[in-house]
Amino acid sequence: MDYLSTVFWTQDEIRFREEVRAFCEKEIAPVSDKLDKGPYPRDLITKIGKAGYMGVHHEKAAGGSARGLSYETIVAEEISRCNGGLDMARMASATLYGMPVSKFGTVEQKKRYLAPIIRGDKIGCIGITEPDVGSDTAGMKTRAERDGNEWVVTGEKRFITNGSQADYMCCFAITDPKVDPKNGMTAFIVDTKSKGFSVLKDHDLLGMKSSRVSWLKIDHVRVPSDMVLGSPGQGFRILMDELDSERTAIAAEAIGYARIPYETAVKHSNERQQFGKRIREFEGVSFKIADMAMKLEAGRALTLTAARMLDKGLKATKQASIAKLYTTEAAVQITNDALQILGGLGYTTDYPVERFLRDARLMTIGGGTAEILRFLIQREVFKEFEL
Ligand SMILES: Cc1cc2nc3c(=O)[nH]c(=O)nc-3n(C[C@H](O)[C@H](O)[C@H](O)COP(=O)(O)OP(=O)(O)OC[C@H]3O[C@@H](n4cnc5c(N)ncnc54)[C@H](O)[C@@H]3O)c2cc1C
Repeated sequence: MDYLSTVFWTQDEIRFREEVRAFCEKEIAPVSDKLDKGPYPRDLITKIGKAGYMGVHHEKAAGGSARGLSYETIVAEEISRCNGGLDMARMASATLYGMPVSKFGTVEQKKRYLAPIIRGDKIGCIGITEPDVGSDTAGMKTRAERDGNEWVVTGEKRFITNGSQADYMCCFAITDPKVDPKNGMTAFIVDTKSKGFSVLKDHDLLGMKSSRVSWLKIDHVRVPSDMVLGSPGQGFRILMDELDSERTAIAAEAIGYARIPYETAVKHSNERQQFGKRIREFEGVSFKIADMAMKLEAGRALTLTAARMLDKGLKATKQASIAKLYTTEAAVQITNDALQILGGLGYTTDYPVERFLRDARLMTIGGGTAEILRFLIQREVFKEFEL
């Protein structure tokens, strides 16, 4: 199997992938179509946690297995191969919320607010996006003011994956509006049961229907000062750091969405006959298969490159952006081409291809749009040339 190629993956990673795939086949694949009605049952996240797949990239002291981001990409791809929304929810908790706490949290914070996430007993979310602020994160309007030993946080967060399901949010807010937001933003762990925290609505989405993505109001929520992540003013750095691991993991998810559509299209083109021939004998069909295979192989290599760099502690903004941009655009193209190869059948819900196409469509938007990623990549290129 191409994705088990020992050229790229270690023996342990290959064995781990087989283990995760067996778990997915048993626990997720049988319900993956039903899950699309949403919301995912909370006990499925607990099961994933108990199996050890919420914490492969987290330290052992917090209950993780400290294997690294390359293992998180394996979990992300395999679960996404069954159901995109479920992995988006898992990853929002384990990586989007989990990585800032893991990297910038104190020992006590990790014990209280990360260990239960890794066990799958609690759910996390990340609060960056707001009604008036999307790509331009530095322009965020949510404010936090110090009041004695507490901070008072006020604002709205929109499009928050797990928003209405989460126990804790990694919430970004401006704490010093007088300075550049890059120095005046702070990250907080917010308990979603706090007074003043409410769900305005769950968004009705095109895809990712097994997840819940919410619009939240944070109305003078009091947050103890020991729930600040890192130090006050460090929020933008934490945010930028989080995005590199998020984008690498999303790239792996995108490969996951594309796999079943690809496999289905290959088999269908071999079986379906028109004009007295198998449709794979028409170049209009078989060249689409060639492009799909090429994009999957290239996407995996790019994703693993970014994961390996981050696991070595290297800066990988360019590689993570390239991996996410390439694989998410590829996932949209592959799922769309697979639907085309299936003809009318592809447009029905008898096949999951339409579901994966709907899920894949999100990913050139969420976690940094394709346009923003192109901006970041060219900026890194010009830096490399010292121009
Ligand atoms: C299902 C879903 C789940 C999400 N989950 C989360 C989550 O868990 N937490 C969270 O904080 N956010 C989440 N988001 C928000 C997501 O990250 C944002 O939607 C995304 O960053 C884009 O922001 P925006 O939607 O406000 O678009 P905008 O920033 O308003 O952009 C609109 C358009 O303008 C383009 N554009 C903007 N600026 C530029 C520029 N400088 N150059 C070129 N083009 C530009 C964009 O590329 C886009 O095409 C989620 C979104 C969705 C839809």
